[in-house]
Amino acid sequence: MISFEEAFQKVMDNPLDLGNEKIHLDQCMGRILAETIIADRDFPPFDRATKDGIAIRFDALKSSEQEFKVVGVAQAGSPQLTLEGDSNCIEIMTGAMVPKNADTVVMYEHTNRKGDIFTIHKTVNKGQDIHYQASDIAKNGALLQEGTKITPAEIGVLASVGKSEVLVKKSPKVAVVSTGNELVDVHEIPEPYQIRKSNSHTLMALLEKEHVKASLFHLVDEPNAIKETLKKLLGQFDVLLLSGGVSKGKYDFLPEVFDSLGVEKVFHRVLQRPGKPFWFGRHAGHHSIVFSFPGNPVSTFVNYHTYFKPWLNKTLGTDTPHFTVILEEALTNQTDLSIFVGVAVKFKESGLYAKSLSTSGSGDLASLAQVDGFIQLGPYEEAKKGINVPFIPTRSII
Ligand code: AMP
Ligand code: MG
Repeated sequence: MISFEEAFQKVMDNPLDLGNEKIHLDQCMGRILAETIIADRDFPPFDRATKDGIAIRFDALKSSEQEFKVVGVAQAGSPQLTLEGDSNCIEIMTGAMVPKNADTVVMYEHTNRKGDIFTIHKTVNKGQDIHYQASDIAKNGALLQEGTKITPAEIGVLASVGKSEVLVKKSPKVAVVSTGNELVDVHEIPEPYQIRKSNSHTLMALLEKEHVKASLFHLVDEPNAIKETLKKLLGQFDVLLLSGGVSKGKYDFLPEVFDSLGVEKVFHRVLQRPGKPFWFGRHAGHHSIVFSFPGNPVSTFVNYHTYFKPWLNKTLGTDTPHFTVILEEALTNQTDLSIFVGVAVKFKESGLYAKSLSTSGSGDLASLAQVDGFIQLGPYEEAKKGINVPFIPTRSII
């Protein structure tokens, strides 16, 4: 058996190269950018007014009684006007081009108006209330880097540079496969010896969050049937994400079937809890990767977050953030395993604090609805109250 760190490294050493694809701007939320985004013009593209008011030439302003006659209106979306004469001004709206010869904007609130004559009753600073051309970024400057995750903020930037089509990393096609004779579908009433499938639905939901397309399959515990289905799936999908059937039970057939199908075992079983019987491999011919998690719901859930998600990020060329939390209590790991403890977290003035939640083990599905994530303790680690420990969030906590 290998340590968690070794297993993690082996998973990360096996990313897939799936290439890129061009998709429509409206489809790219949550995807990973595969090109650097360059400013196609200056931002802003011209000196723009940031207030509604009047545009003047600052040096023309000699006293507070001075009168300015309106000789035009600069509207947002109209070509640039020219201000002629020192005793004139142009009314200007937010977003409009500052007129030629004008260099200062005075908001209406700082003026008095009589007909088409304005006077100014507040101190004016030269150049005020103008957002200068190229002050955000100049033409050809890099706005977004390759590998950026696209959120609503990036969508706005992409739109502003005219990217109706965006080059993004291709996501893997994933087959989510549940295994076990005891499992029935969600809509069924289980016999006393049966349970409803849950892992596969959790996994589908987790993948949906990552904008990864997945299809659902089920295998009964029968080696020939398993082999036939997996053979097909290996040819059709980039990743097989399985749950159950990899432990030491009499009906845990997956490892031998993978072997018979030419899936190369990278490792099987990890010194960790939950999630110890994890089987990981790859099929060289099909360029596919197999994550075969133990069936206990908490094991599947922990293994997805600790292995699959960082692997997906690596495959897509983006980083996995590392978080820590402060322990609210002392915790001791008396085993030679890396352990993952479900915690609830709370923001306090000095940071994010974690309190462990007791569970009845790796099958305790209901506990997952209470946890905000898992903290990681190394073999025989004695973690004192108040120290920082690694934290793997399993829900959005902000
Ligand atoms: P296994 O890893 O196949 O030995 O399964 C371990 C435990 O997890 C057993 O109690 C299974 O019934 C349960 N289990 C396996 N697959 C699922 C699933 N898809 N949904 C819910 N529980 C499961
Ligand atoms: Mg099973």
